[in-house]
Amino acid sequence: MRRYDYVIVGAGSAGCVLAARLSADPNVKVALLEAGDEDSVNEIRVPAAALQLTKTKYDWDFYSEAEPGLGGRSVPLARGKGIGGTSSINAMVYIRGNPADFDNWERDGASGWSYREMLPYFIKGESNERGEGRFHGRSGPMSVQDARYVHPLSKRFIEAAKQAGHPYNEDFNGATQIGVGHFQLTQRNGERCSAADAYLHPARQRSNLDVITGALVLKVLLNGTRATALSIFRCGQEETLQVEREVILSAGTYGSPQLLMLSGMGPAAQLKSFNIATAVDMPVGEDLQDHVLAPVTYRTSEPSLLRAGTAADLELYTKERKGPLSSNGIGAGAFLSTVPGETIPDIELYMAPLLIDDLYSPPREDGFGIAASLLKISSRGTVTLRSARPDAKPRILTNVLTTPEDQRTMANGVRAAMHIARQNKLAEVRVSDASVPKSEREADIDDYLRNRAMTDRHPAGTCGMGRVVDSELRVLGIDGLRVVDASVIPTIPRGNLNAVVLAIAEKAADMILHNAT
Ligand SMILES: Cc1cc2nc3c(=O)[nH]c(=O)nc-3n(C[C@H](O)[C@H](O)[C@H](O)COP(=O)(O)OP(=O)(O)OC[C@H]3O[C@@H](n4cnc5c(N)ncnc54)[C@H](O)[C@@H]3O)c2cc1C
Repeated sequence: MRRYDYVIVGAGSAGCVLAARLSADPNVKVALLEAGDEDSVNEIRVPAAALQLTKTKYDWDFYSEAEPGLGGRSVPLARGKGIGGTSSINAMVYIRGNPADFDNWERDGASGWSYREMLPYFIKGESNERGEGRFHGRSGPMSVQDARYVHPLSKRFIEAAKQAGHPYNEDFNGATQIGVGHFQLTQRNGERCSAADAYLHPARQRSNLDVITGALVLKVLLNGTRATALSIFRCGQEETLQVEREVILSAGTYGSPQLLMLSGMGPAAQLKSFNIATAVDMPVGEDLQDHVLAPVTYRTSEPSLLRAGTAADLELYTKERKGPLSSNGIGAGAFLSTVPGETIPDIELYMAPLLIDDLYSPPREDGFGIAASLLKISSRGTVTLRSARPDAKPRILTNVLTTPEDQRTMANGVRAAMHIARQNKLAEVRVSDASVPKSEREADIDDYLRNRAMTDRHPAGTCGMGRVVDSELRVLGIDGLRVVDASVIPTIPRGNLNAVVLAIAEKAADMILHNAT
């Protein structure tokens, strides 16, 4: 039987950070277990190919239950599967959220997680090509760069947003989040920089780190109230790995609660209905939160990113890693508040110089889309078991857009997107509406949202701090077991999640190493 000091479940954003940081001590033996495969295909490297990764073997391809707030539709919920996890298939936008988010975590009991305490971990993890400063680091593993290609339609969006009254913001991760600007990206010289590229690959040659792919973790094995081993399924057979110090679940917002429940930690009534003995009765899987996404799209007279991929583009990318193929498809965006005078945003806008309606069908016409993403969420969803079989997909009910508050803010976000699209700089090239609400009346926007909205694929909160784990991310009532990934987030921050998960994992690594000394 193989024995390790630390076993990390899931080689995603958090798992890669932990594997690199913990195995830096040559005296400990670390295993990183990943259900998916290696991240060796070109589609992962080339930013413009990102959309082609969903619904492939690199995506768990989850679907929600019939959503009451989305007209009973079941919506796709992409999740990365393989080395790098979701950081290998995401859109590479580098956003940290708002300082108030972390201060609220601290206020609500997550001691040690205020913005003041998180900022050093954002800085530690980052190598920002703009250089060092009050908000940024230059010598961390994750490469953060400006886009090497900005599409003319994105430049028009920035001008149109300014015409609509949004201030230009040079750095969404700096002194203020509000305004319109260019996103910085997790890229290195025009290629995707996943958590695996930044953290794991440079550490893989270490003899004290075993990275085991194709390993589906089935459950955590407890001895009394202590996690001591893991049961895994690999190459057609079950195997047990013995763990001396800690098991760390980094299987993501859907995977980590599923594993806890399969291992007897979760709501007792639910576990009982699947004949799983309860070790700890706790609200695992509750409090699922996700941002809500809805685009408005228009046809244009100006060529869009749809044209990318010509022989010249390919040559430019191959030789210099520049041009349209280095684009992540959303170079520009904005943060705004729908509450007049408020300086903390409740809506993020993404500008896509591409006519994509649902993120899953390829574009066929020239156009652009402005998608509104609801940042402040009052609804709560759930992740529950579908079956006691570890290879069954969990039941995911996001419950997005089920509260009047969220519906109202989201409707105002869509109105803000439509308002920008009407400004001269975009009106000059706008030919016709592709997909927009019938009017800006509340009933028409609500109807549009019921039929078109989806989630922004930023799930969080199912093993939240204070409810399932303590402020050091230890599972309540169990020794030797932590959860470190987006699921521990108590309240979803105002922005894309990858940078936040990387910083959470950096901080967790410090906690684990400190505990061990
Ligand atoms: C299409 C898409 C675009 C996105 N774009 C952005 C963006 O532009 N910017 C941004 O900041 N965020 C973005 N996100 C979100 C962000 O990437 C994720 O929130 C973040 O990567 C989550 O990290 P994690 O460590 O919690 O989980 P993950 O990175 O999902 O890692 C979980 C890992 O655990 C593995 N696993 C799960 N269960 C098991 C098991 N039982 N056994 C073994 N292994 C298991 C999975 O295969 C996976 O590798 C996007 C997400 C998606 C889906």
